[in-house]
Amino acid sequence: MESARHSCERITMLRKARWTPPKPEPVACVRCTKPTDEPRRGLCIACYLRQRRGSEFTIDACCQVCSTADKRVLRWHRLAGGFAVLCANHAAIAGRRALELDALRAECA
Ligand SMILES: [Zn+2]
Ligand SMILES: [Zn+2]
Repeated sequence: MESARHSCERITMLRKARWTPPKPEPVACVRCTKPTDEPRRGLCIACYLRQRRGSEFTIDACCQVCSTADKRVLRWHRLAGGFAVLCANHAAIAGRRALELDALRAECA
């Protein structure tokens, strides 16, 4: 009985040794560029919470391309020249490319 339990434990130990959960790749936060293991919508926890509080936009913030002022669709987006406030559409168009704001404007004109 004792030896059976023992071998069972050994098998469990071997399984554990063989199966290691994939380590999450640290991702750079799209706003502060700090690496984070658990990105939430591409943001580190600090930036995500700040975004949820909605404290990051000024009263008259609007999309730098189309001037949409609806805060529900605005987000900070990293461009070549730094961060810009963009609407969901233009953030999607810009994607992760290193675009200048002017280049993005020209593309969407
Ligand atoms: Zn961040
Ligand atoms: Zn826009």
